Amino acid sequence: MSSYYDDHSLEDPFKARQSNNRSLNPDLSHFMPNEDDEISSSSNRLPPGTTPRASDFRRLAEMFGAFREREEPLGDEAHQEFLDNLITQLMDEAGASGKHGPPPASKSFIRDLPFVAQKELKSDEACIICNENFHENEFKAGITKLPCKHFFDRDCIVPWLELHNNCPACRAEVPSDDPDWIKKKREAELAKYAAEAEIDEDWMYS
Ligand SMILES: [Zn+2]
Ligand SMILES: [Zn+2]
Repeated sequence: MSSYYDDHSLEDPFKARQSNNRSLNPDLSHFMPNEDDEISSSSNRLPPGTTPRASDFRRLAEMFGAFREREEPLGDEAHQEFLDNLITQLMDEAGASGKHGPPPASKSFIRDLPFVAQKELKSDEACIICNENFHENEFKAGITKLPCKHFFDRDCIVPWLELHNNCPACRAEVPSDDPDWIKKKREAELAKYAAEAEIDEDWMYS
């Protein structure tokens, strides 16, 4: 049977893990920050202000691959396709060392992500990335939302934002510290003001 990974000539992260003599059940704790083990988990994460490396993109593709594997063969096809697209993007970015993708979200944006209480969420609301119902949430880091009002486990969205300044669901942009991104943003804003000023002038003198 040809899998999603064969079709896309990708290394199946789940198979790779099996061949490393890991258990058949995806062990998600491997990807999750461990409260008792701050030092080793933080060494697994990107130090602030560092350009992401190919291995950072690959590690996140592996985490999303484990979510996908967990819900097969049943599960939500639309959600699996959503994860497939994210995994493909991450593997492409790993190949290009992230050079062609969006820049990481800004450190202050990630730091100031809001905390959302479970009671604010509908009973069937699930994290867009892992598809786990928030009311059965086993992860301890809590729930957050992006300005586009999409909800996520913090454990799921923070590693994505450390690599991309957008929402993985609707692609709405969030701030970045990347100097090129800031420059482009400023130029686009100046162009917008210039265009508006021109319209005002046309109106005044017509
Ligand atoms: Zn999640
Ligand atoms: Zn969104």
